[in-house]
Amino acid sequence: MLDTAKLDKIKNNFFQGSLDYTKNQPDFFLPHKYKPISPSIVHGFLDDFKTSLGSDKNILIYIHLPFCFSECVFCNSFPHKTDKQQQELYFNCIIKEIELFTQAGLFDGKNIKSIYFGGGTPTSFSNDKLKAIINKIKESMDVIKDASITTEAHPLTLKNSDRIKGLFEIGINRVSIGCQTFDPEILKICRRSHSKEGIKKIITTLNDLGMLSNIDMMAGLPGQTIESMKLDMEILEEIKPAAVEYIRHEIVNPIAIEIYKKNPKLLVKDEELFEMVYTMQNWMQEQGYEQNGYFTKKKFWEYRYHWLKELPIIAFGSRARSYSKSMSYDKHEDIPIYTKLIQKNIPPIGRYTVLSKSDQMYRMLFLRLQIKKGLSLTKFKERFNEKGEDVFQGLLKNLEEFECIQTVDNHIRLTEYGAFFVEDVCDFIMDYALKLESKELKRNPHSLGSTSSRLDIK
Ligand code: SF4
Repeated sequence: MLDTAKLDKIKNNFFQGSLDYTKNQPDFFLPHKYKPISPSIVHGFLDDFKTSLGSDKNILIYIHLPFCFSECVFCNSFPHKTDKQQQELYFNCIIKEIELFTQAGLFDGKNIKSIYFGGGTPTSFSNDKLKAIINKIKESMDVIKDASITTEAHPLTLKNSDRIKGLFEIGINRVSIGCQTFDPEILKICRRSHSKEGIKKIITTLNDLGMLSNIDMMAGLPGQTIESMKLDMEILEEIKPAAVEYIRHEIVNPIAIEIYKKNPKLLVKDEELFEMVYTMQNWMQEQGYEQNGYFTKKKFWEYRYHWLKELPIIAFGSRARSYSKSMSYDKHEDIPIYTKLIQKNIPPIGRYTVLSKSDQMYRMLFLRLQIKKGLSLTKFKERFNEKGEDVFQGLLKNLEEFECIQTVDNHIRLTEYGAFFVEDVCDFIMDYALKLESKELKRNPHSLGSTSSRLDIK
């Protein structure tokens, strides 16, 4: 039964409404700490990064393919327009980049546990190109048997079942499809055109091939209502994807901002957004889907689970971010710079940060709270020689007052409603950590983030 007193605490104290929400998860990100790196010292930097991988045996690989033919209003990844020539050049660079990082010894003695193709729309590249990248990874590194290999996909690229069979044949075993909604009116506003029947056909083909499927959905889209969301959920129950990821619409796209300026009524009011988030989380729980705040080992999204457990990520492609437990670096975002450096045999790293002890502590808490089990205080003490309860005292006191976290079996974990509003808990932690450094600092995620000032219609 709905506990309105508990929900009100969240709503009144730190729920981020439509305009103020910033997509922070999954990772803890302090942009002001990244420093530019000169190409002349990049090889030395990679030696340090290799050392920072330490005894971690398993690694995750991310391949960033930032091209897309669509212009979705909800997009927050700002891909480049598909272009045959540019994509050919970019593909060659990815292959070369894998060679450069392999030569730097980053994968010596390591196992690749999971591979993820993200974008953009990775399936705007042909199956042959994706196959060549997978083969290059397999030639260069030890990929474990049955490694989870996922690609994100726009539904229109999977209209033909042979395309999906091709993905299966090249070793991809999980496909994540961006739908966001099935409501035709909202799809029109968002510049999308997929249908329930089309998605159903894709899921059936994936199921028949024994591949895992995920459907990305959104709450808070322009003009969306609770009724429309509930109809979406009925469709999902009929289609039965293996996994569903429901996230909140983050208003960062200039096209979206223009739409809301012209028609402010399309903006979902905070009160309704709160109900939407509650409704979708409750539904996810009833359906048994794994969700932010509930990730577990036994379910389907291995890549995200291991990320939250702090397995190192080595990312290829422009802008992509890599992590060890104590260091992080970004590639150059500008594709001409990225390609030029690769052509000169220079790993195209643009900026980096060395995580301080405090950064590492906050990152560990931030990531583990998105796992059902939470943060082990024993493991925290072993790693940092400090008690988590003491380090996070002020922060935990706030979150406990809001009944979002609890300590169970020596683990700090989210309460049921804390997990429902995990995105707000993460925003709260990020704000708290930034304020410890300076009152001037503001949340600013990878995708630049939404701020009310960008959308002057409060
Ligand atoms: S399909 Fe995905 S990457 Fe392409 S514009 Fe839409 S949201 Fe962005």
